[in-house]
Amino acid sequence: MPRNPQPKFESWGRYPKLEADLVPLHWTTDFPLRHSPTTKILPVGAGRSYGDVCLLEHGTLLKTRGMDRLLHFNPETGVLRCEAGATLAEILDFAVPRGFFLPVTPGTKYVTVGGAIANDIHGKNHHIAGTFGCHVPRFELVRSDGAHFECSPTENADWFSATVGGMGLTGLITWAEVRLRPIVSRKIQYKGTKFVGIDEFVALSKAAAHSEYTIAWIDCIATGNNFARGIFMQGDHSQQPEPLKRSKEPWLMLPLDVPEFALNRFSIGLFNTLYYNRQWSKEKNALVDYEPFFYPLDCLLHWNRMYGKSGLLQFQCVLPWEDGQQMGIIKILKTITASGLASFLAVIKVFGDAPSPGMLSFPMPGITLALDFPIRSDISFDLLHRLADIAQEHSGRMYPAKDARMTAGQFQSFYPQWQSFSRYIDPAFDSAFWQRVTAHG
Ligand SMILES: Cc1cc2nc3c(=O)[nH]c(=O)nc-3n(C[C@H](O)[C@H](O)[C@H](O)COP(=O)(O)OP(=O)(O)OC[C@H]3O[C@@H](n4cnc5c(N)ncnc54)[C@H](O)[C@@H]3O)c2cc1C
Repeated sequence: MPRNPQPKFESWGRYPKLEADLVPLHWTTDFPLRHSPTTKILPVGAGRSYGDVCLLEHGTLLKTRGMDRLLHFNPETGVLRCEAGATLAEILDFAVPRGFFLPVTPGTKYVTVGGAIANDIHGKNHHIAGTFGCHVPRFELVRSDGAHFECSPTENADWFSATVGGMGLTGLITWAEVRLRPIVSRKIQYKGTKFVGIDEFVALSKAAAHSEYTIAWIDCIATGNNFARGIFMQGDHSQQPEPLKRSKEPWLMLPLDVPEFALNRFSIGLFNTLYYNRQWSKEKNALVDYEPFFYPLDCLLHWNRMYGKSGLLQFQCVLPWEDGQQMGIIKILKTITASGLASFLAVIKVFGDAPSPGMLSFPMPGITLALDFPIRSDISFDLLHRLADIAQEHSGRMYPAKDARMTAGQFQSFYPQWQSFSRYIDPAFDSAFWQRVTAHG
């Protein structure tokens, strides 16, 4: 009997698009599924990963967004307990008016708590706060055989460490606790500094190590005297008390896929020049709302349509510190500028040395670089492969949440602990990413 085609699912990068069944979960007790599927399963949060960690071909995706309740908040400790499908945006709506903020946030607030734990995400404050998992005192993990575990750094500690950064493979996180931090204002005291070259970026990062948030935008097209120019951004929560209000809903949406030819080296080069020159002086100080500081792209819903139907590829690596010049990062940037492929959402940041709590967590001390490329069949695939090779040669690693192309050999050299991790995988769970990087698909 020919099987009915299943709907196709895509993540934020829109590549790959894979067929799967979708089962919405509304209550934490909806799992294990009453009629256990014979196909493999994978939880999915808001689908804000770029590649295939949240995809499973011909599998069943457990859609967790319906489990979005905030369950308990202790203002004395700042610990919030919520269901795993709640988004960081929903937490902020609750927490900011009460004088609390997320301990760690990525570049979008539209991710779920389950997704944030499963990828052990990092933010602009990694050098001070470590990863998201460092601020999760406890969560519940439910396995496909119905077993429930409460996991914390001291209770079922091995399951805690396998599940934080475990990419949804160890079971379903049903609820979690997150330790929020106090604030007195929505505002961030911002400072932007223009730089040219990786040495200047490193010097600025070291000088700003006391600032809670640091990140830099980097121009990946400029060559010659402008090679590796960018804007270094640092910020701290304002200490001037002011009324704390909820954020407004975003009001802009990209309604259509932009034709693929619109994003090219010329248009991105123009954008980069305008962006670099939006700040005339070497330094700029301002008091800004946290929304544009943390989430500059969230005001444009579906901005990934800018890359057309074929989608985009992300590349994020971290390379450990090298003595003298940071040759690995320089080599990666030179390979990109020479490729003719342009990226305008390129950011670079120094990771701190707080140990990550997950067995497969991505961050480690060093410099992380994240960029995206429009998919142009073999050109971008080939470029990504070469960038991954450079990361490998320089003892770095790539970030699974942002990846759709690393090979099994590359993954296994980046994460040699993958075999010890695989003992914790739920036998009913699998993902397209895991099939690819362990080559059992
Ligand atoms: C604009 C943008 C900016 C970003 N910036 C950053 C950044 O600064 N730092 C960073 O680290 N990441 C960043 N990301 C990546 C994003 O934070 C992660 O991919 C995050 O995990 C996505 O969460 P999600 O809820 O969309 O999960 P999904 O993408 O749906 O799933 C991610 C993983 O979590 C698992 N999962 C989801 N829910 C559960 C659950 N309840 N139980 C068990 N497993 C579960 C899935 O199986 C999957 O493996 C960014 C993404 C975008 C689109």
